[in-house]
Amino acid sequence: MGVFTDSIQDVSDDITKWHFVAYDQLNHALLPDDIAESNTGLLFIETKWKARRLPYHKQKLALLLSNQRHFAIEMQEQGYPINYVFDERPYCEILDDFVSRGYTLTTTESAELVMREQISMVDSIQILSHKGWITTKEDFILSQGKKKTWKMDPFYRLVRKKYDIMIDEGKPVGGKWSLDYENRLPWDNAVSLPEQIRFDCDDITNEVIQMIENDFSHHPGKIDPEYLPSSSAQAKSLWNWAKMNVMTYFGPYEDAMTLQHKTLFHTTISSMLNLSRLLPMDVVKDAEMLDIPINSKEGFIRQILGWREFVKHVHDLTNGFEDNPEKKPTARPGAGWEGDWPDSRKSPNFLSNQYPLPPVYWGAESGMLCLDTAVSDVVNTGYTHHIPRLMVLANIGNLLQVNPRELTDWFWAMFTDAYDWVVEPNVLAMGTYAVGGLMTTKPYVSGTPYIKKMGDYCGDCSLHFKKSCPISDMYWNFLDENKHLFEGNIRLAMPLRTLSKKSEEAKQSSKKVTAYVKQQLSLGEKLDEQVLVTMKA
Ligand SMILES: Cc1cc2nc3c(=O)[nH]c(=O)nc-3n(C[C@H](O)[C@H](O)[C@H](O)COP(=O)(O)OP(=O)(O)OC[C@H]3O[C@@H](n4cnc5c(N)ncnc54)[C@H](O)[C@@H]3O)c2cc1C
Repeated sequence: MGVFTDSIQDVSDDITKWHFVAYDQLNHALLPDDIAESNTGLLFIETKWKARRLPYHKQKLALLLSNQRHFAIEMQEQGYPINYVFDERPYCEILDDFVSRGYTLTTTESAELVMREQISMVDSIQILSHKGWITTKEDFILSQGKKKTWKMDPFYRLVRKKYDIMIDEGKPVGGKWSLDYENRLPWDNAVSLPEQIRFDCDDITNEVIQMIENDFSHHPGKIDPEYLPSSSAQAKSLWNWAKMNVMTYFGPYEDAMTLQHKTLFHTTISSMLNLSRLLPMDVVKDAEMLDIPINSKEGFIRQILGWREFVKHVHDLTNGFEDNPEKKPTARPGAGWEGDWPDSRKSPNFLSNQYPLPPVYWGAESGMLCLDTAVSDVVNTGYTHHIPRLMVLANIGNLLQVNPRELTDWFWAMFTDAYDWVVEPNVLAMGTYAVGGLMTTKPYVSGTPYIKKMGDYCGDCSLHFKKSCPISDMYWNFLDENKHLFEGNIRLAMPLRTLSKKSEEAKQSSKKVTAYVKQQLSLGEKLDEQVLVTMKA
């Protein structure tokens, strides 16, 4: 017995109907409309089977379980009967037991495909629609017309109009749909950086932390209780903090990276949104009401109403990209994680990248400060903002030709906000181009100049940005090896023209540099500045 189990009351035998609340549906607004009148109890499942599926970051396990336990208590306080089951088996077997004991079961359609697969194996359970999404599949289909490739922009315009967000007489407020061109500042110390909000940790959360340290001590990452919003009130405080402290400058510094601050003017609400502690429409409506510059307001709303909803539809419509599969990856990363990886989902691999995820992604130092900083941020907190994810972790992974499934599984395990519906489109489609041009017109790859411009790592890096940084070499080598796939791609025409003007020696040198980096990193060893200087000379 413990603090949490002691606070859950016994329920009477006359409850025969249970609504199963999945771990990412922790909001009263997502419960069935008739829940209060129908003498239905709420069923929660905490099964170690799930936690063992991937090497989940400890902070992620703590965040998910402490929120689930707090939500159960919050709902009990509102009068709902609660059945909180601890188990070691898959969800489908536990739910099947309930059915065979004569109970009637309902659940809300799960956002995650892995949970939908579990639910589909339950003999008899009624699935109710999910009320947490702002947009519908029909919105998505209507916005894309008959095109074979999908674009966020037409979807965003359509749903802004349909749901009347920042719209004035049918036109976008401010006259433009996107103000992204105003949102490209590197960090320039022009304003004060915000102090991140911290949370008190109660007995329920402490108990979860203890359990994880005992049962999942071999999992990566560490738990920081001060950054563990767990109750509904703490989720609201996080959003209030974001509205007061970051939203004004969200736009201009959206893409900036600095060693001085991990989160800059990002809200850090994604984990709370993805557990449904915060609801996207509430956040969008609140943001619309804020008295902040329009480029920050529009930039933020686009992330949630646009990107977040868009990737969910892409994932649903492709069944997690399974329509375009290759064989399951065989090489699985060992370093940093001693357990077995479960069988992974089949995944597309448009670029045929097969390099196994190297130990640097688990914390071995590479000597590239941008990569080492992003990885240590993830290991320490389970978070980095969008640009380190896209332009450092995914970019360098892609330039190294890491198997995209392995990289995706790493993101999925290590980020506190990662669930299949959001991590797969972001890594497989956006970050690694593993699905080809389905969602992006070109791979998001870049060399040293982008990272130097948007971040301040290069000044403190042990590798000189010109003489020994290998990232641009890896970039040119990537383009050279894949150029046959990008013939006629207008967005890549300029870099491909530059590539074609490079001498054969320059191309060979980039190839050698890339091979050296891959060899060192697969051994878990740092890059040697002198070796790189000689190779690049
Ligand atoms: C390679 C890669 C992997 C990613 N993996 C995840 C993931 O596992 N889970 C996740 O929620 N987001 C993911 N993202 C999207 C985005 O990076 C995060 O949502 C964001 O960094 C979360 O931090 P924040 O809450 O401070 O976001 P802010 O910058 O404050 O943005 C506000 C909100 O917009 C939403 N958002 C913004 N961009 C996206 C996007 N591309 N897809 C979905 N939602 C978006 C998020 O809900 C976010 O909380 C990934 C992006 C990339 C490039």
